[in-house]
Amino acid sequence: MRLTRLFTLISAILALLVCGVQGRSLWAEWRQYQAAEQGLQALQLVSASMRVAEKLSVERGPSNAVMGDGHPAAPAKQERLRTARNDTNAVLRQLQQQLSHGNTVPAHQLAGLELALREARRNVDQLAAQPPSSRTPAQLDAAVERMYALVPLALDAVTEATRASEQAYPRITRVLVKARLAVELREYAGRLGSTLTAPLATAQALGSAQQQRLQFLRGRLEQLRQLIKMANNDADQAVHIQAAVARMDSDYFEAGQRIISEVEQASSNGPRDSMARHYSMDTAQFAQRYVPTMTPILAVRDALLQEAEHQAQAEFARARHELSWAMLNGAAILLVLVTLLVIVRVRVVAPLLRATRAVVRLGNGDYTPPSRISRRRDEIGDMLRALATLRENSMERQRLEQERARLIEELKIRADTDYLTGILNRRAFATAGNLRLRGAREKDESLAVILFDIDHFKSVNDCYGHDAGDQVLIRIAEVVRSTLRDGEILARYGGEEFVVMPSFCGLEAARALAERLRVAIEQEPLTLSDGYILRVTASFGVAVAHGPHAALDDLFHSADLALYRAKSQGRNRVEAQL
Ligand code: GH3
Ligand code: MG
Ligand code: MG
Repeated sequence: MRLTRLFTLISAILALLVCGVQGRSLWAEWRQYQAAEQGLQALQLVSASMRVAEKLSVERGPSNAVMGDGHPAAPAKQERLRTARNDTNAVLRQLQQQLSHGNTVPAHQLAGLELALREARRNVDQLAAQPPSSRTPAQLDAAVERMYALVPLALDAVTEATRASEQAYPRITRVLVKARLAVELREYAGRLGSTLTAPLATAQALGSAQQQRLQFLRGRLEQLRQLIKMANNDADQAVHIQAAVARMDSDYFEAGQRIISEVEQASSNGPRDSMARHYSMDTAQFAQRYVPTMTPILAVRDALLQEAEHQAQAEFARARHELSWAMLNGAAILLVLVTLLVIVRVRVVAPLLRATRAVVRLGNGDYTPPSRISRRRDEIGDMLRALATLRENSMERQRLEQERARLIEELKIRADTDYLTGILNRRAFATAGNLRLRGAREKDESLAVILFDIDHFKSVNDCYGHDAGDQVLIRIAEVVRSTLRDGEILARYGGEEFVVMPSFCGLEAARALAERLRVAIEQEPLTLSDGYILRVTASFGVAVAHGPHAALDDLFHSADLALYRAKSQGRNRVEAQL
């Protein structure tokens, strides 16, 4: 696998792993945060439902008063009932609004409560609309019972919500339970008071059923009180809760209960043969004294609710804090990972790839210089500098190799070239001539050789100097070379003797060529470096070979003989083999 791909793969796997772990932890924190938020909402619902329960308890007093009054009831009593109902409606609306926000509780729970409330109120209104004489105790009891039944409905309306907050904050569950116990306590305290309303109103002794009910309610109240006072955790032992409980003890369980005992006492003290009793207070006076003693019960509830809410707020803040930290933490880890990967990529992988490409280029003989020389102090820098040195050494070696090749080529050319005239030397001519002779044999062609020698050359040397002789030799070579066509070989045979090998041709064509050369030399004015113009002539010997046994030496020999004849017959002429 390519290094780049491997690195990308490793980066992706690492990023996935880190994102996975971070995502998991973030998800858990998010869930915690959401649960805390929902729990807080649920707690507010619980508070709202308890307020509804409270108002329903309160509404019972004025309802009883109206049902117990004449027809029509006193306006003040009607007004009190109206106010109480409005209060209940207001808190009920609040609960409804909270429910529609949180949406954690089935709406039918509240619908049931509303329906029951409407029914109970209609019942109260119907009874109040009748003349007192036609209101039977059974009807009145039924109407009161209906009102009683509303409280559990209100509390149960948010049972689901309570469960949600219990799940979110198990620690505060007991506090909530106690708050509910306080609501129930208030409810039973109210019922206890209501039990005495009828005897007080009618100035009758308490019946046995009523006494039993009093006992039952007292027992229940005491039970609830003990449950509330039971230490469950630190939260329900908070100072303000304890203070509220102490106030409830003194105000309700002492002062409030004393009022009940007073009525009981008065009921049991009367004449045995008559139910009529003389109480020291009427219903209104009783309510005026008794009802305020129940207020601290609700204060206990509120203190507990306040504590629960305080705890929930703290939990919520903690969850939010944890979530923020988890997010920051995740972002920081991701940032570090990305930075590390970028550093590794920029400082290791990318230079390594560049170095690899440079080595490959070097191997392929591409010596393009790097864009910049690395100044890095680490191992990669060492490697890049070593590469640069390697590149320079390779370039130097290549330069030397090229120089060597050039020198070899030059040597080769020099070995084949006459140092003075630049045309082929005798050795090179022998090679080329033999090659052509072989071709001639194969093609069964004639091959000619023209040998020529400058006439009286010694006297040129003697008269004008050796350098002038050299210049003459150079010019003669040039003149002949320019007269010849491509494929016609010219070489210096030695001293002032030259040899020409025309392309495949017979004796006559060779002789004609020799004649052309002779004329060209004869007619060429040779200007020496000192400005002196010289004319020289040359004598030519021509020979031709043909057939499978043709040999270069024989051909030369024949041409040499012909040249000799040309010399001896007066020079500046062409002679062919006989
Ligand atoms: P002939 O007409 O009979 O050929 O007379 P010649 O003088 O040309 O012949 P000879 O063989 O007597 O002399 C040849 C001379 O060519 C002798 C030598 O000094 C001269 N020579 C040979 N090679 C060179 C050379 O490379 N440069 C110069 N300047 N002279 C050369
Ligand atoms: Mg000679
Ligand atoms: Mg000569």
